[in-house]
Amino acid sequence: MRKDGARGSGLGAGGGPPPSPADVAGIEAALEEARRAASRNEVPVGAVVLRDGHVVSRAHNETVGRADPTAHAELLAIRGALQALHTDRLDDCTLYVTLEPCAQCAGAVVLAKVGRVVFGAYDPKAGMAGSVGDLLRHPGLNHRPEVIGGIEEEACGQLLREFFENRR
Ligand code: ZN
Repeated sequence: MRKDGARGSGLGAGGGPPPSPADVAGIEAALEEARRAASRNEVPVGAVVLRDGHVVSRAHNETVGRADPTAHAELLAIRGALQALHTDRLDDCTLYVTLEPCAQCAGAVVLAKVGRVVFGAYDPKAGMAGSVGDLLRHPGLNHRPEVIGGIEEEACGQLLREFFENRR
């Protein structure tokens, strides 16, 4: 079942069918990673890759710890999954991430041919799954994952808001 979400409005999924329990559980696992990030003073974004209901890899933002602005949760989780599965394509996997992927991470999803992407909060400033643009479903690219946005949107966004409020 496909749910397209906000289509560029950045306002969330709104109506439509309720998310599957499996997708909610996947986002919950990603939220655990995001909380781990917050406890390490990293921007709280978490990601997990699942195949056949099993966690293949999990990661959170490590941009501070690695002094690397590209060390985003999804990118690290994708790399972890490729290594764990000894493969160069993740077309039978689902990437769960608490925040809409940026251009870099959406690019990594396309290159690694991730089959499905499920994300939590929309990112009106950098999201490339409908908010700023839509790289994941760009008609000119030869791999287009199934995309579902806005799952557990409130919990995912709240974690980020609290993190940045506490920093002030
Ligand atoms: Zn990113």
